[in-house]
Order: sequence, then C-alpha cells, then structure tokens
Amino acid sequence: MHNQNPYLSIVIPVYNEQETLEELYRRLTTALDQLGKTYEIILTNDGSKDRSSEILKELHHRRPSQIRVIEFNGNFGQHMAIMAGFEKVRGEIVITMDADLQNPPEEIHKLVEAIEQGHDVVNTHRLGRQDNWWRLWVSKMHNKLRAWMMPKLVMKDEGCMLRAYRRNIVDLMAATGETTTFIPALALNYAANPTEVGVAHETRFAGESNYNLYKLIRYNFDLVTGFSVFPLQVFTMIGMLISFLSFLFVIFLIARRLIVGPEVEGVFTLFAIMFFLLGIVLLGLGVTGEYIGRIYQEVRKRPRFVVREVLEE
Ligand code: UDP
Ligand code: MG
Repeated sequence: MHNQNPYLSIVIPVYNEQETLEELYRRLTTALDQLGKTYEIILTNDGSKDRSSEILKELHHRRPSQIRVIEFNGNFGQHMAIMAGFEKVRGEIVITMDADLQNPPEEIHKLVEAIEQGHDVVNTHRLGRQDNWWRLWVSKMHNKLRAWMMPKLVMKDEGCMLRAYRRNIVDLMAATGETTTFIPALALNYAANPTEVGVAHETRFAGESNYNLYKLIRYNFDLVTGFSVFPLQVFTMIGMLISFLSFLFVIFLIARRLIVGPEVEGVFTLFAIMFFLLGIVLLGLGVTGEYIGRIYQEVRKRPRFVVREVLEE
C-alpha cells in the first residue's frame, strides 16, 4: 500500500510509444527529481500494439511506488486514457502530457508555479511549434472556427496537451461520465481562475504521429458537437431563411396574379408553395435534430473505457 499521497500527479496516455518510453522515463524523472516535490506518474496504455505494455511493466517495477500503469482493453483514444488516469490520481496538482516528448518535461515547473500562484487550470500554447505545415494549417483554421463558434472557450492553442489542473477540477472532470470529450475544453467549463503559459515544443522523439487528417477532423468534430449545438442551429437558421424568402415569393406571386392575371397555368404559384413548405420541413428537421442531438449526448451510457489491469502499490 502507498502510505502518503504525492504532491504532483503526471498523467500520460501511451499508444505505440515503445521507442520513446525509456527516454521519457529518463527525462521526466530527472526533471521531477530536480523539482524536489513528491510525485507519481500514471501511464495509461491505450491498447498499444507494440512492446509498450512490457516496457511500462518494467518501468513500474523500477519505481513501484511512483510509477503506476493502467492497461486498457483496447484503443479508447487519448482523452479517455487521460480520463482513466484522472479517476486514479492521488496528487494535489495534476499535469497531463504526451508520451512522445513533444512536450518537454523540463517545462513542468512553469505549470506548477502557475498553480501555486492560485490558478486552478493552466493552459499552454506551444512556442515554436514543431509540426509539419499541414498540421499547423489545420490547427490554425480550426482555432479560428472554434473561437467563432464557441467564444467562451478562451484558449490560444487547444492542441498542446501539457497542462496543469488543481485536484478539484480533475475530480469534477472524472465525475462527468461523457464518452466523447475534450479535456482542455471540459476543464475550462469548471475553471474559476484559469491562466495560460507558453511552453517549448519539440519534434516527436521517435515514431510517427497517431493522427491523420481523417482522425483530426473527427476529433475536432467531437470538440464542436461536444461543447456546442452550433451546427444544428445553422441548420435551423437556413430553414428559417428559406421559409422567409419563400413567403416573400408567395406574396409576390399573389400580387402578380391579381395585377397581371393568370400566367402559365399556376406552375410558378405551385413552385412557390412547394418551396415554402420545403423551408418549413427543413426548419422542422433542424429543430428536431437539435433535440435528438441533445438527447443523444445524454443518453449514451456505454462504458467509456475498459481497464484490463492496473499496476500500482
Ligand atoms: N495517444 C493515445 N491513444 C491514441 C492516440 C494517441 O493514447 O489513440 C497518445 C500518444 O501515445 C501520445 C499522445 O496521445 O502520448 C498524443 O498522440 P500523438 O503524438 O500521436 O499526436 P500529435 O502529437 O501528433 O497530436
Ligand atoms: Mg505528438
């Protein structure tokens, strides 16, 4: 059994990171030992198909009281891997980071200082981001779109996973049973005093990014639908606009009918009425969709992830 709760909890999702884990261990423990605070590192193996699982087991045996490993039963995604860690944290300050060393562990002290100054959520933006041009472009576009659709989410850079949270925020996040969620956005929902610091960014230590364009789009879609009903509202707006325009068209045709008299046997009148009805149908669909969307979000009570094994003391 562990006897005392650590001060810091580092939560790291791991998916096919066999080449980086040893280096991650070395740099992370060095940086944390230098900080001089008690800590634990929780690594969730998100169904890796390489040797990550064995390496994690070995790391746990090296420092059994400090390194805890959660083994998933399959691949449930980066955010669920972090969530599983959140459910188990023992520390007062919780820090999330990637396993691939794109977030340098040497930056952790900045986040700890910000929390100690009284902030409950510390977001980060990447200084000198090291990714390829299309990732940068997709991120830029997406950040713009998100700022427009969800002005409440104040965040310069949502992709950087090196972040720090106070324990009460983490407990709240772990208690939300949502399946598709985006942790930094969720945290901001609960934050009373968030802040943002710049952190260095590096190229991947080894291996390739797990995200391709399709996964990125899906992921961003999750963010948008998970935190706003904006897309459904657009649908409703279009329906409303079409109904209004068709209504004007109907008035116009009635006036013509009275002034000019019957034309082409009423075909256009028929069109006008059809468009008007079509507008109403679209509007109705939009409104229903809005409700179904909300219900769908609430009703999915599947297990978020399945844990096969936990290695801890
Ligand atoms: N990851 C995960 N499950 C996945 C995909 C990724 O746990 O299905 C982890 C991965 O091991 C890494 C982090 O999430 O620690 C970020 O992934 P990656 O570096 O591939 O993404 P990028 O940095 O390119 O956004
Ligand atoms: Mg990465």
